[in-house]
Amino acid sequence: MTTSLQDRYAAALMNTFGPPQLVLSRGKGARVWDEDGREYVDLLGGIAVNALGHAHPAVVEAVTGQLSTLGHVSNFFATVPQITLAERLLDLVAPPRVEEAAHQAGSRGKVFFTNSGTEANEAALKLTRRTGRTQVIAAEGSFHGRTMGALALTSKAAYRQPFEPLPGHVTFVPYGDPEALREAVTDETAALVLEPLQGEAGVVEPPVGYLETARAVTREHGALLWLDEVQTGIGRTGAWFAAAADPDVAPDLVTLAKGLGGGLPIGACIGLGQAADLLQPGHHGTTFGGNPVACAAALAVLDTIAEDGLMEHATGLGDRVRAAVAVDRRVTTVRGRGLLIGVDVTVDAARVVAAARRHGFIVNATGPHTVRLAPPLVLGDDDADQFLAAWPGILDDAEDAGDSAASADHLGAP
Ligand SMILES: *Cc1c(COP(=O)(O)O)cnc(C)c1O
Repeated sequence: MTTSLQDRYAAALMNTFGPPQLVLSRGKGARVWDEDGREYVDLLGGIAVNALGHAHPAVVEAVTGQLSTLGHVSNFFATVPQITLAERLLDLVAPPRVEEAAHQAGSRGKVFFTNSGTEANEAALKLTRRTGRTQVIAAEGSFHGRTMGALALTSKAAYRQPFEPLPGHVTFVPYGDPEALREAVTDETAALVLEPLQGEAGVVEPPVGYLETARAVTREHGALLWLDEVQTGIGRTGAWFAAAADPDVAPDLVTLAKGLGGGLPIGACIGLGQAADLLQPGHHGTTFGGNPVACAAALAVLDTIAEDGLMEHATGLGDRVRAAVAVDRRVTTVRGRGLLIGVDVTVDAARVVAAARRHGFIVNATGPHTVRLAPPLVLGDDDADQFLAAWPGILDDAEDAGDSAASADHLGAP
């Protein structure tokens, strides 16, 4: 690899991520090329961001068209892409019921746009304070972002401790344990925040009925149910949302980002029902959030996912990949839904990442023995076959590399 670029990176960029694995120069579909011209199948998609892969014509066209028309206006002004995207997201998360449609138009929910996942969560966290209560309940293993408020809801000690004190009154409960929810949620609780599947924890699914219990318990105590679908939303799990549109879960707050912009930075905090109006003029703001270029990109992403049947594709291909990787004797567990896949391996996951790279595949490790795949939803059957054919060899290499390979690759999280 281009050492001089690595040196320039190290000299000019803060060392928050460790040394970059590669310097990438271009991408097309589910493939990227590095500065040395080597080609890779991208099975990480910029961490579940590049839903349509790289350089998708629909995104390129939407972005260039919007940028050459009107690129930014601030939130003193509105734009049609922003309004349209908010309406579209509301339609997806809370489809109008026939009986309500007539008299309730516009009151299903409201959207606040941001530029990232952590900012979507900051907006939601501020909104929860408007209930008049302060306690937020979050789950062990959670990841909600790196800014101070979102970090306060993130359980990992290594991320939290260097920055304490964090905004207070957060209580952690074991993820997936309905009894723990019944004990923790009280009339003092402002909100319960949960990922429908925990992405950074290694793609962990709660037991069936857990989110329904979360809904019932929060409703009973007048607390908000907040689903962080930053990683799981926008087709990733084979549906628009992993749980947010499920009428049995019916959250009050939904946060989105990653896949929404197809690579453009955009996030959204959606308040449903009464939560839609808890933030009032002066309570929150953003200069860039809802920028028309990012909104145009997101509209192109939503259109393309629907028109090209990418959710059905994600479901079918995801099932096939999970079944196929599981066959290897060094795989202990495979989890996930659609194209969000966690694979537990007996070998060091950082070595699997490095070996995969040598074989021409980009994957990542969420923990010492867990590999995550979150490829573009446009990943081709042939790309997947190529990976599945290489998989046993990748694991062989990772075993052999034992002593020499780098082992810090699972610094991993965004
Ligand atoms: C990635 C992620 C975030 C943070 O998003 P950023 O855009 O990196 O700030 C928040 N929540 C979940 C569930 C995530 O996966």
